[in-house]
Amino acid sequence: MPLEQSVNAWCQSHPLIAELVALRPTCWFNPALAPSAEALGDVALTAADIREASARLERFAPYIASAFPETVPSAGIIESPVLPLRALQAVLCAEQHLAPAGELWLKADNLLPISGSIKARGGIYEVLKHAEDLALAGGLLRPGDSYATLDSDEARAFFGQYSVAVGSTGNLGLSIGIISARLGFKATVHMSADARQWKKDRLRACGVEVREYSADYSVAVEQGRQEAEADPRCHFVDDENSLNLFLGYAVAAERLQRQLAEQGIQVDAEHPLFVYLPCGVGGGPGGVAFGLKHIFGDAVHCLFAEPSHSPCMFLGVYTGLHDSVSVYDFGIDNQTAADGLAVGRPSGFVGRSLQRLIDGYYTVSDDTLYRQLAQMHACEGIELEPSALAGVSGMFSVMQEQQGYRQRLGLSDERMARATHLVWGTGGSMVPRDEMDRYLAKGRAVLAGR
Ligand SMILES: *Cc1c(COP(=O)(O)O)cnc(C)c1O
Repeated sequence: MPLEQSVNAWCQSHPLIAELVALRPTCWFNPALAPSAEALGDVALTAADIREASARLERFAPYIASAFPETVPSAGIIESPVLPLRALQAVLCAEQHLAPAGELWLKADNLLPISGSIKARGGIYEVLKHAEDLALAGGLLRPGDSYATLDSDEARAFFGQYSVAVGSTGNLGLSIGIISARLGFKATVHMSADARQWKKDRLRACGVEVREYSADYSVAVEQGRQEAEADPRCHFVDDENSLNLFLGYAVAAERLQRQLAEQGIQVDAEHPLFVYLPCGVGGGPGGVAFGLKHIFGDAVHCLFAEPSHSPCMFLGVYTGLHDSVSVYDFGIDNQTAADGLAVGRPSGFVGRSLQRLIDGYYTVSDDTLYRQLAQMHACEGIELEPSALAGVSGMFSVMQEQQGYRQRLGLSDERMARATHLVWGTGGSMVPRDEMDRYLAKGRAVLAGR
């Protein structure tokens, strides 16, 4: 859809667009931010929906533990640790000539079992929900049964009558493909041109059908959607609009609440929590932010992070055009090494539902992602994929902001000194060794100024 006014006219009325078009790292603090008690009402889902999703994941835990032995230590609950980033914080603050204020932590979703990225939350949840619906309706499960019985040839034969399809830049496809194939579904993943070869290989090794498209993510999704619509036994996972996907992500919040309490980290008005979420289409960060707002209310501040070449959610919310705009309309090319975030058009559902709940949106250059990838490894020994570093710069966006944001929210220096900054590390542990070594080499080269 072409813009109704020129890019120049947009730059006049919305000055940050000029920055985005010039691909400069840019941050926008949301002037429409509203008290969570009020703005949570904008979302067509409730705390009860999140509790239901959480209870469903508990019911499936015996199945998950049986089907994926790596989850036995957590009794079939798919969760990641929170880890301090003391050394990285010191190095980054020294670089910026800033005194550290508050503490920097990582939510290590790169370590999530089964698919090694944040998609192991929403993606797996959606497939489990679909499997439960089918199994209950088909008499394979009765309420009260142990779901461990789903790890059986009988159950796989039952699910084999159905199929699951998804369009993906990679990680969503991995998560949906792995869980679907393991349950016994016929699984098809429609992948965009930018998806990494190893992800396709990994899926094919699990028995998943991978269709490749030379175009970008939106085209792969559309093809997948059309094919699935023609087949009543096929469930299409809709990354842009799925409420179930969103709820799967939202369950992260109650788990994080327990983990922060275990670490002795307080969260309240005097101890603000900033959470920096890499954003592609928006479902992952949106669902997590929605859950966090339910738990921590106005004490949590969520910011979405995007590559400077793919600022789709920033543009969508800032212009108010949401999913009727794509980065291409502004001459931005959507070419980024952050393949999980290479999305040109945001989810309209997420952008609209959360437009009064998200504190800010910012962009990061690929060079910065690579540089921080190398620094994360050097300082903390943690290996993340480029997308997963997008959260790291957020702390500086907040500390150095000059848009009156902290003042407006009463985030005084005293409160900032007690703040927790949580970087959502969205993926990385499934990246093959040789690919990770290339990422690290690239990051070190950027660091060395080569
Ligand atoms: C998918 C993904 C995201 C963002 O999730 P969206 O739902 O697309 O916004 C962030 N990081 C990684 C590594 C991802 O795979």
